[in-house]
Amino acid sequence: MSDSKLASSSSVLARIARWVRPEVRALSAYHVPPSADFIKLDAMENPYQWPEAMVEEWLAVLRDVSLNRYPDPSPDGLKASLAEAMGVPAGQDVILGNGSDELIQMIALTLAQPGRVVLAPDPSFLMYKIIATFTGMDYVGVPLAEDFSLDLDAMLTAIGQHQPAVVFLAYPNNPTGDLFDRDAVRAVIEASPGLVVVDEAYHAFAGDSFMGELGSGSGKYDNLVVMRTVSKMGLAGLRLGLLAGPSEWLTEFDKTRLPYNINVLTQVSAEFALTHREVLDTQTRQICADRDTLMAELQALDGVDPFPSRANFILFRVERASEVFESLKAQAVLIKNMGAETGPLTQCLRVTVGAEEENTAFLRALESSV
Ligand code: PMP
Repeated sequence: MSDSKLASSSSVLARIARWVRPEVRALSAYHVPPSADFIKLDAMENPYQWPEAMVEEWLAVLRDVSLNRYPDPSPDGLKASLAEAMGVPAGQDVILGNGSDELIQMIALTLAQPGRVVLAPDPSFLMYKIIATFTGMDYVGVPLAEDFSLDLDAMLTAIGQHQPAVVFLAYPNNPTGDLFDRDAVRAVIEASPGLVVVDEAYHAFAGDSFMGELGSGSGKYDNLVVMRTVSKMGLAGLRLGLLAGPSEWLTEFDKTRLPYNINVLTQVSAEFALTHREVLDTQTRQICADRDTLMAELQALDGVDPFPSRANFILFRVERASEVFESLKAQAVLIKNMGAETGPLTQCLRVTVGAEEENTAFLRALESSV
């Protein structure tokens, strides 16, 4: 680097050190590894395309979109279709996010104050902590039990001690894959002084939900909201998440939503896809069946210890995770290395359930790697 470039880069760094919030400087941006030319089993995507005739029909719908206009700021038709498809109970409201990531951010922005706590089991979805941090809240992770179940005593103690503004419970949990015990989740909701978000990103594969507990009255909770996404239903490219719950809460969250957060291509494409639910549902059923096959095959492999899953991925432990991960990569199979040498995720890897031939390629590569 030339002297003048060096001088200007050190002056930039000095300004950054002075102005960028220390907690943001200490963060790492959410990392997405390059995946071109890999069998991509790292991001819990649905591996299937649509049938050709459906693609043609969709393209015809796109032809009529007015790209020169801003999108509908609050698309009621899409909200109603999603609410119906996702079984949102009558009387509960819905808001949409640019992925459920954005909904997590809206919730945090609404509740954030210095010293306030976001609480979640640990390990869980990384964005809870990242968003808590950049919205200036304190994050408390409560370790799961050894078998990755919710440690209810530890959760209740932490809730009592930290009085969290919000508790996030991923149901099923990522990266562990299983559902927490329903009664334990209920106990957490009942003990929480603030909001509880049950994040049902993997609902399509789980067949269980807290939607029915939204609201007030017996067996219902007015401090509960339920989050869903279309990402795992085969529409990850659209970036569309849904938050369901009492309108009193959602009205407040909606104030932190940026105008026009759901772009017009997403709006019309999601509406269109929901008129072909049977295609998405068939794909989901196939993924569930393939998950069960993959689980049985992993269980049969020496040196591989898979954990139960109600999602579209399986967490498993091997002896030397980093070596296995690199060996799979060398064979063009990309999964997720949980990157832990100690703690609950020690030597754990996570594989997304792909199409049948992808799962077979993964298993062959794994067999030769463990
Ligand atoms: N919640 C959980 C538990 C997740 O695992 C993910 C993504 N992997 C999300 C939310 C974010 O989903 P979206 O694509 O809707 O932002």
